[in-house]
Amino acid sequence: MNEFIPYGRQSINEEDIKRVIDVLKSDWLTQGPCVTQFESALQYYTGAKYAYAVCNATAALHLSYLALELGKGDILWTSPNTFLSTANAALMCGAVVDFVDICPKTFNLSVEALEEKLIQAKKINKLPKIVVPVHFAGQSCDMKKIFELSKEYGFKIVEDAAHAIGGRYLKQPVGSCQYSDITIFSFHPVKIITTGEGGVVMANSKMLADKIALLRAHGMTRDQEMMTKIAEGDWYYQMLELGYNYRITDIQCALGMSQLKRIDEFVANRHIARQSYERLLSHIEEINLPYQSKDSYSALHLYPIEVPEVHRKKLFAYLRINKIGVNVHYIPVYMQPYYEKLGFKGGCCPNAEAYYNRAISLPIYPTLSTRQIHCISERVMEGLE
Ligand SMILES: *Cc1c(COP(=O)(O)O)cnc(C)c1O
Repeated sequence: MNEFIPYGRQSINEEDIKRVIDVLKSDWLTQGPCVTQFESALQYYTGAKYAYAVCNATAALHLSYLALELGKGDILWTSPNTFLSTANAALMCGAVVDFVDICPKTFNLSVEALEEKLIQAKKINKLPKIVVPVHFAGQSCDMKKIFELSKEYGFKIVEDAAHAIGGRYLKQPVGSCQYSDITIFSFHPVKIITTGEGGVVMANSKMLADKIALLRAHGMTRDQEMMTKIAEGDWYYQMLELGYNYRITDIQCALGMSQLKRIDEFVANRHIARQSYERLLSHIEEINLPYQSKDSYSALHLYPIEVPEVHRKKLFAYLRINKIGVNVHYIPVYMQPYYEKLGFKGGCCPNAEAYYNRAISLPIYPTLSTRQIHCISERVMEGLE
C-alpha cells in the first residue's frame, strides 16, 4: 500500500466544481445571492429558523458568545475534549473558561459531572453564563438533560456541532436548536461538508439572529428600523456595535450548497466505514471501538479507538510509518501551555486525560474504501503485536 491515507478529507465532485466556476463568472464573489441561498438550505435541512454563515466556526463561536453577552468576568464551561476554538472564543470575549470532565463511554461532556459541578458552583455563586456541549466525533451530547439543567441553573447553551452536521439526536437533525440557544457548524475540509473554510450560526431566536447578523459585518446596518434616526439618504448606514468582518464569500457558499445536497450520502458512507471497522476490529481485546448511542445518529466525523496506554505511542508511530494518517483527538485543552499559564493543572478532568492517553483516530471519510479499511485494520493488529 503506497498511497497516504489521511484521517479525514473532503470529497469534491464535478458538480461542486461547476457551482464554484459559475460564481466566478457571475457578478458577485461575496455578499451575493449564494450566501442567503446556502443559509436557507441550512435552515431547511436542520429545521432551525435562522442561519448566518461566517468565515469559519471559530468566528461562529465568537459571535455566538458575544450575542449571548458573554463578557469580562462571565464564566463559560465546556468539554476539555475539543478543539481549541471552543474555549479560545470565550477568552476572546474576556470571559473565564472552565472545563467539565467527559463521560468515559461517549467522550462527550458528562451530564453527571456537569450537575455535580453546578451544585458546587451554586454554593460559591460562580455559576456559568454559558455551557458549550461539544458533539464529539459527530455524536450528540445528551442535550435533553443538559437543557433541563439549564432551566434549573439559568445558563445558556451553545452546541459546538463542528463535527456533527448530518447527525441526529432523538430523531431531530443536530442544529435544530430544540435544546439550545445556538448551534454552530464548521465547514473546514476535514469536517462533514466543506466550503474550504467556513462556519455557520444556527438559532431560533430572532433577537439572537439579528445580533449575529450585525456583529458578522462590522456592527453596521442599512436597515432603517434598526437605526437611531431617519436615514440621511440611500448611501446611509449606521454602526451600532463594535463588530467584525467575519463574512463568508459567495464562492464558498456555492460549494457549500452543492456539498449540502450530498450530506446524507456522505454520512451514510461514514457509517459503512464504521461497520467495516467493527467487523474487522471488534474481536481485538486491546481495542475499544467508539460507542454508538441509541439516542443519536452520529455524523461520524472521527473514528477514535482506545488502546492500552502502553501501546498507544508505538501503535501510532507504526501506523504513520505505514502511511496511515492517524491522529489524536484531543489533547485536553487545559493542558496547553497557554491554559496552564491561566492556572490550569493536570488532573482537573481525569476522564479526559485517561481517554487522551489511549486515543487514536483512525481514518474515516466518505471515499475511504473497504479495501483501505482492511489495510488499516491489518496494520492496527500488527502494530499491537
Ligand atoms: C474544527 C472545529 C472548530 C473550529 O472550526 P473552524 O471552522 O476550523 O474554525 C471548533 N470546534 C470543534 C469541536 C472543531 O472540531
